Amino acid sequence: MSLQLEPQINLFKKANPFIATVLKNQRLTPTIDKAKRPKEEGEASIHRIVLAVPHDQYPYLIGQSAGVIPPGADPKKVEKGSPDTAYTVRLYSISSPTYSFGMTKNTLEFIIKRDNVYDEAGNLLYKGVCSNYLCDLKEGEKVTLTGPSGKKFLLPKLEFDGDIYFLATGTGIAPFFGMSEELLKHKHFPFSGKIYLIYGAPYSDEIVLRDYFHSLEKEFPQFRFIEAVSREQQNPFDGGKMYISHQVRMLVSEIKISFQKQSKFYICGGPKGMERAVIEEIMKAVDSELTYEEFKKKYESLEQLFVETY
Ligand SMILES: Cc1cc2nc3c(=O)[nH]c(=O)nc-3n(C[C@H](O)[C@H](O)[C@H](O)COP(=O)(O)OP(=O)(O)OC[C@H]3O[C@@H](n4cnc5c(N)ncnc54)[C@H](O)[C@@H]3O)c2cc1C
Repeated sequence: MSLQLEPQINLFKKANPFIATVLKNQRLTPTIDKAKRPKEEGEASIHRIVLAVPHDQYPYLIGQSAGVIPPGADPKKVEKGSPDTAYTVRLYSISSPTYSFGMTKNTLEFIIKRDNVYDEAGNLLYKGVCSNYLCDLKEGEKVTLTGPSGKKFLLPKLEFDGDIYFLATGTGIAPFFGMSEELLKHKHFPFSGKIYLIYGAPYSDEIVLRDYFHSLEKEFPQFRFIEAVSREQQNPFDGGKMYISHQVRMLVSEIKISFQKQSKFYICGGPKGMERAVIEEIMKAVDSELTYEEFKKKYESLEQLFVETY
């Protein structure tokens, strides 16, 4: 297949979905009895799900998302007497590298967290429909996909000699797994900059694929993996919790230099508000006099800033 660097969008919709088969479902975080997270905070259950997806049928670029339609009828729609009772599509970032380069692997991967709500004692109150459906999947089962979707959160298409900053919290690591792999291993365009992957999680055993990212750091000197473990590390500024925004502040001199080289900053994950703390640190590092909104708008349109928070 030829190199395809333009994103294909919405090839599959609710009315004509793509049916994929589950190859693997691997839990990435420890079970509650072995986890660092106290039981009263509920469980953090994150899974890596590998689907069989022929790339010539479902072509995607890393940075795009895929939609998943959970099976069954949505009880809220049934109650309302809605003619279409199917669940709405949920989007998930694709975490495997761009199809053109993973040709030996006709797969699509996700990194999914069970989106559950717990009470103060750690008892389960609500279960997210689609995330639990995905995390419970067994090998050989079928999944209904839409998409691919998204055309902005993408890697450069041409030679690039700036640096790349990946800023992730929780499952926001998903696209950066495939992007790091693509930049360092598949090398679909000449890239001579550095990669800083800054990854935040509340506990160190929720830094998923930790060993893999440390091994990338050993193998590729231009790759740095920086952790912000909020409940275990203290930030050096006020001694409070360490968030990714503090790690960004600690890189102020690198960011100053990188910014002049039109370096790119990708932010992914949640909660939705975390992007502001991170962007404000970048603004301080480069002595920007713009307002937050002006800065975001300007650098998103210049394709230096990419934000996908949910
Ligand atoms: C572009 C994009 C990319 C994304 N990528 C990822 C990704 O890579 N990985 C990932 O894990 N997620 C990702 N998400 C989030 C994902 O799309 C879903 O929003 C998430 O999985 C929750 O969906 P759900 O069906 O499990 O929860 P829903 O059933 O939709 O419920 C949503 C929340 O409400 C709670 N809830 C349910 N019922 C009640 C009630 N009665 N009262 C109060 N609360 C209730 C649930 O526990 C849950 O926390 C992404 C989102 C976007 C927009």
